[in-house]
Amino acid sequence: MEQTLEHSKTISDVWNKRPLIISGPCSAETEEQVLETATRLAATGKVDVLRAGIWKPRTRPGSFEGVGTKGLPWMQKAKELTGLPVAIEVATAKQVEDALHFGIDILWIGARTTVNPFSVQEVADALRGADVPVLIKNPINPDLELWIGAVERVAKAGIKNIGLIHRGFSSYGNTEYRNAPMWHLAIEMKRRNPGMMIINDPSHICGNRHMLMDVAQKAIDLDFDGLIIESHIDPDKAWSDAKQQVTPERLGEMIGSIRWRTEDVASEEYHAALEKLRQQINHLDDELMQILGQRMKVAEKIGQYKKDNNITILQTNRWNSILERAFAKGEKLGLSKEFITKYFDAVHMESINHQNKVMNS
Ligand code: PEP
Ligand code: MN
Repeated sequence: MEQTLEHSKTISDVWNKRPLIISGPCSAETEEQVLETATRLAATGKVDVLRAGIWKPRTRPGSFEGVGTKGLPWMQKAKELTGLPVAIEVATAKQVEDALHFGIDILWIGARTTVNPFSVQEVADALRGADVPVLIKNPINPDLELWIGAVERVAKAGIKNIGLIHRGFSSYGNTEYRNAPMWHLAIEMKRRNPGMMIINDPSHICGNRHMLMDVAQKAIDLDFDGLIIESHIDPDKAWSDAKQQVTPERLGEMIGSIRWRTEDVASEEYHAALEKLRQQINHLDDELMQILGQRMKVAEKIGQYKKDNNITILQTNRWNSILERAFAKGEKLGLSKEFITKYFDAVHMESINHQNKVMNS
């Protein structure tokens, strides 16, 4: 039988709500902190699920590794107090058993667990027969197959309600983000799992407070189903991830100021206008493909010439001058340097492949 929350909302009502907003501290620290966070979050009226880390996978030993099982009754109490269903991270069979024993409503698999098929399988086996929704974070490395593999393992264990969390990917060295969002990977994951909920985790992507809104808005613009954002009653004093947490009240303001994009299914005018623009895009894409095809034909001619005269394919000077020209032109056309670089890299590679075929035929 499905658990019924206060106000007679069932877990599936909450699971199917859009946008789904999950918030709460990175870590449960004390009973008072959990209960006060829950109460203040509930008071904003903007949050659907309370989150907290009970066991914390830390990069280096010696940092706070979570309060452990004793934090589970705190979550139960927070739920009784506020009516908010509760979510925690699980990484081992024992953690799954404890979480289910204490009636935790939603479980999530963390990024450091998704990378390891042994761990995911252990969690999946422990979940067998349970009727609990599971969210699966992307692995820390940008590997879509690992993420899909984790979804498959959990699905094979009989879990019906599976959702995805996009929390960014780690990279070497300092970047603007704590974990690079690599939006294209999340978009591809969405494409490969149509109908599966995907929410965004701006907290672990940003690693700081000031970029949270930008990332959250971008996710909503990309049609994500919701957000999971960390909040703390005294963010600077949080025992983990202090820099990225916000107060429950700030969280409420942030959610309140996001521009929610909805498809206005009722308006025929809107559909007609959009359809027209989409046709234009299709048209332009066709033309671009035609032109790219022509460009490759020219490259093949160059390949033939190089073959006849025994010249190397790659001529670095020529390549640099192509790029310089493209950057200058691109800037005037509003195309970013990043895009120009990626685009010309791809075109150049294809061109080399065409020349290669000619030279070795
Ligand atoms: C967390 O949600 O606090 C957490 C540990 O996240 P991740 O698994 O994305 O690092
Ligand atoms: Mn965290």
